[in-house]
Amino acid sequence: MSIEKFSVEKVLSVHRWAHNLFSFTLTRPAHFKFSAGQFARIGLMVNGELVVRAYSVVSSPFDETLEFFSIVVPDGAFTSNLQHLKVGDELYLDKVSYGYLTLARYQLPVPQDLWLLATGTGLAPFLSMLQDFETWKKYQHINLVYSVRTASELAYVERIQEITALFGEGHTGFKFVPIITRDPNATLHDRLPILIANRELEKTIGLSLNPASSHVMLCGNPQMVEDTKEALKQRGLTMNRRGEGNIAVENYW
Ligand SMILES: Cc1cc2nc3c(=O)[nH]c(=O)nc-3n(C[C@H](O)[C@H](O)[C@H](O)COP(=O)(O)OP(=O)(O)OC[C@H]3O[C@@H](n4cnc5c(N)ncnc54)[C@H](O)[C@@H]3O)c2cc1C
Repeated sequence: MSIEKFSVEKVLSVHRWAHNLFSFTLTRPAHFKFSAGQFARIGLMVNGELVVRAYSVVSSPFDETLEFFSIVVPDGAFTSNLQHLKVGDELYLDKVSYGYLTLARYQLPVPQDLWLLATGTGLAPFLSMLQDFETWKKYQHINLVYSVRTASELAYVERIQEITALFGEGHTGFKFVPIITRDPNATLHDRLPILIANRELEKTIGLSLNPASSHVMLCGNPQMVEDTKEALKQRGLTMNRRGEGNIAVENYW
């Protein structure tokens, strides 16, 4: 891997949400452009070798710094080292951003209802989209659905409230729906594909999934993405290709 493809950026802050979840911000070089929903490639020197992983950007494209939301995989080559990150440390940042999980990919149906369905750190690209005024202008309904295993993994809840108050001021069609899969007392605790198949999610939100008006984005755990995609197809929704269709996905592994 050519090191010239990367710039060296400083860690400005680290926030720990749970033993296996944290966020950090980096300096943003002027050349680093991205659209909400895209990902960066971040590198870390481990025993003299550059280890690189994809990370969705949490920040808005207009922010001066870059924020990321990370899992800790105990024996993961990248995150078992990254978890010790401190303010002032340096990371490598690929100069280019990547990815197609952006709202610009949708042409038909025209924007009306946006469903953002995440598991875990798959929340990240949706936070970026919600910090873009364009998103709020385009969509009449925006549903952010965030599935985690335990309540302690429910990161960013206050930030979501702040973001929606600021960027979605005056917008009346936003719903935030947490799902806690290991808490039988949580309002919603089944896996996303089940909640779509039995229509519980739509009942909770008060809006139907509709091939003529829904843009549905899925991000995170590949099994969730695959099973949810199938549940949506059963409801007549189609994969978005060349601008047309309802479903767009990003698998994290
Ligand atoms: C396009 C894209 C965007 C991504 N954005 C993010 C992001 O914003 N935040 C983030 O934490 N990760 C993200 N990832 C995953 C990330 O690239 C790494 O896989 C993760 O940092 C773990 O790296 P690792 O070397 O420690 O473990 P790896 O060897 O990469 O992964 C080992 C195992 O850990 C599990 N795993 C990996 N990533 C996750 C995760 N995010 N949540 C739960 N389990 C996981 C899987 O079982 C995987 O097989 C993204 C991946 C892709 C492809």
